[in-house]
Parts: sequence; structure tokens; C-alpha cells
Amino acid sequence: MNVYESPWMDEDLRVFRETVSRFAETEMAPHDARWRAQHHVDRETWRRAGELGLLCLDIPAEYGGGGGDFRHECILYEETSRRGLSGFGQGVHSICAHYLLNHGTEAQKQRWLPRMASGELIGAIAMTEPGAGSDLQGIRTRAVAEGDGYLINGSKIFITNGAQASIIALVVRTDPNERKRGLSILMVETPGLAGYRVGRVLDKMGMASQDTAELFFENARVPADALLGPEPGRGMYQLMADLPYERAIIAIAGVAAMEGAVAETVKYVKERQAFGQTLASMQTIRFKLAEITTITRVARTFVDRCIEQVLEGKLDTETASMAKWWVTDMQQKVIDECVQLHGGYGYMNEYLVCRMFTDARVQRIYGGTNEIMKELISRSL
Ligand SMILES: Cc1cc2nc3c(=O)[nH]c(=O)nc-3n(C[C@H](O)[C@H](O)[C@H](O)COP(=O)(O)OP(=O)(O)OC[C@H]3O[C@@H](n4cnc5c(N)ncnc54)[C@H](O)[C@@H]3O)c2cc1C
Repeated sequence: MNVYESPWMDEDLRVFRETVSRFAETEMAPHDARWRAQHHVDRETWRRAGELGLLCLDIPAEYGGGGGDFRHECILYEETSRRGLSGFGQGVHSICAHYLLNHGTEAQKQRWLPRMASGELIGAIAMTEPGAGSDLQGIRTRAVAEGDGYLINGSKIFITNGAQASIIALVVRTDPNERKRGLSILMVETPGLAGYRVGRVLDKMGMASQDTAELFFENARVPADALLGPEPGRGMYQLMADLPYERAIIAIAGVAAMEGAVAETVKYVKERQAFGQTLASMQTIRFKLAEITTITRVARTFVDRCIEQVLEGKLDTETASMAKWWVTDMQQKVIDECVQLHGGYGYMNEYLVCRMFTDARVQRIYGGTNEIMKELISRSL
């Protein structure tokens, strides 16, 4: 079969892909089992990624970033997701950096982006609370303007990179009398912050190497210039502007995981013997491979178009929502077939498809659930 290559690839990006692939293969994959057992990626790996220039790839060089574009980011998501390296939350790190880039003041960009690019700071975005997930307008974490800063009280849950995060785009309620316009984003630098505490690293079905955590704020005080944007009350607007970017990243990781799982499964059924022949010589098995390969290619083609739209600055909410729900649903379906084709081995954590299967489940839940994606799409009809 012809090897498919995304239309946005070029020679420079091929060279860059090799660098990323080498990093994933030599500095991440050998540690993944240990990371899964300890429930976090080594802090050192973040610094190393920074040293190699693999963080904040599409942030301009004047802020310490890679000075590349979204294609560079995509390659990083693809090379990690294809290998089931789901603990390294560089997507969320980038999303946090983009809130700064898109909505921050010049001083905020200068203060935080270079340190995020070097891996000194690890980024997170904290929206979800025990009582508010899909319904972001129900956010209760309160930030009260006091003196020359804000006093924060409340808690967040399910925060990716939560335990290690040192710069958090924190969604807070600055006005209790307004629902939508009562929300703001504060950029909270956590090291040494009195009143800030990381709770449990949560015990999850999959993504065991990801330090998803609870965060607590008890009279935590941040300076006034932690506010993202020119005035309070713009949080919902900022979230709506940036969520398509986040949803594109989820879809890219999803399709890359499908590609990795399908490649692994093709290899497996060509080797595995049953009834005196390889599994791959049975037509029912070959038809299954044809089906999952087709679904994966269709998903890839759509995702590639979304990537082009991000590059053109034209990815709209509806298209990003379509990619997020459909690709992640297909990710689960395709990887489920891959597990089935591995038989009992597919149920064993030491097999890539097994880890990919449990990792995949959350893709339909976070970044806005797939039901919320359909709600967003249907509103536009
Ligand atoms: C591993 C993991 C990592 C995460 N990382 C982050 C992170 O970094 N930052 C962050 O802020 N959050 C994060 N989340 C939280 C995630 O975004 C939320 O769990 C998600 O948005 C759903 O919110 P909820 O859990 O409160 O579910 P609910 O909102 O209570 O939803 C429960 C069910 O009801 C459905 N539902 C809700 N409203 C509607 C509606 N209007 N129409 C139809 N169906 C509806 C939902 O689709 C879902 O099926 C993470 C979650 C997990 C599990």
C-alpha cells in the first residue's frame, strides 16, 4: 500500500520528525512502564524536552519558543501518541502557553513563555471543579480583587499535569452576580504560593503516567497582573476562542493513536499462528484490517484538513467539535478491534494496544465531552 503522508509535510518537517521520533524512542518509551507505575513523567524529561527545543514549538522565538508553526506541534503529538506515550502532557502545556500568547500582555508573555519553553515551568489549564464540568458557567472558585491583587478560594479536579504544574491558567469567578461575564482567567505561578495545595494524584482507568490531580486554593493571593487580558470578566470569551485549538490537538492525538495501534496490529496478525497459518491469512481478519485502516485514513484526512485550517487561522468551533467527537469515537472503536485481534495478549498491559485502549477512553470525555461537541455542532445548524 502507498504510504500516506499528510499534505502539510515537507522536507524540513521530515528531518524534524526524525528528531522527535528519536526523543520519543530513546528518552521516553524506555521509561513509560516506570512512569505508569509512579503516576507521573520524570521532571527531568520536561527539562530535557526544553533543552532540545521541543516545548512551545509554535510560540514565536522572541518569547523563547520554537518559532515554528502548528505542524511542528502536530509532529510532537503524533510521535508520542503513536507510541502510547500518554503521560507527557505537552498538549496542555502548549494550550496554557497559547492562552498567554493570544490574550496576555507583553509583560506576561515575557515573564512566562520563555520559562515554559525551557521546561522550567510546566503548564496546566484548570477549568473543571467537583461541581462544574460541562457547565463551565457553574464555576465557583472565587477570586476577589483585594488591594493590589486577587484572593483565591476554591478547588479544581481532574487537572492534567496537575501535580507538577507550576504555571496554571486558572478559571475563576470574579463576579458572583454574572454567569458568563463573571469568569476570568488568572495565570497562577504556583511554586511558593501560600494557600495553594495539590491534592491527590488521581487513580485513573488509563493514562496512568499522567499526573492528573486535584488542586486547592485557600486564601491564595496573586498579584493583579496575574489577570489574563485587559479586564476581568473575559474568561468565557477567552475559553471559547482557544477551545477549538485544544480540540484539534485531541483529534490529532486520537488519529495518531489509531495509526499506531493499527500498525502494531498488522504486524501482530502477520506473525501470530493459529490453525496452521498466520492470522493475517484468514479473510475475516484481513477484512477487519481493511475496515480499521479505512476508518483511520478517513479520520486522518479530516484531521489533516483541520490542521490546515489551524495554520490558516480558520478552524471554527463546529469543525473542531466534529473532529473531536468523531475521531475520538473512532479511536475507541478501532483500538477495541486491535485489542480483539490480539486475543488475550490484547488484554495485557505489557501490550501497546492494551494501554492504548484504556488511554483512549478519556478522549471522549475531556476537552468538552462528545455530547457537548454535538450540542455545539447542532447549535450552528
Ligand atoms: C483524565 C482527565 C483529564 C482531564 N484534564 C482536565 C484539565 O486539564 N483541565 C480541566 O479543566 N479539566 C480536565 N478534565 C475534566 C474534563 O474536561 C471533564 O471531566 C469533562 O468536561 C466533563 O465534565 P464532568 O466530569 O463534570 O461531567 P458532567 O458535566 O457532569 O457530565 C456527565 C455526563 O453528562 C453529559 N452532559 C452534561 N451536560 C450535557 C448536555 N448539556 N447535553 C447532553 N449531555 C450532557 C456529559 O456529556 C457526560 O456524559 C479532565 C478529565 C479527565 C478524566
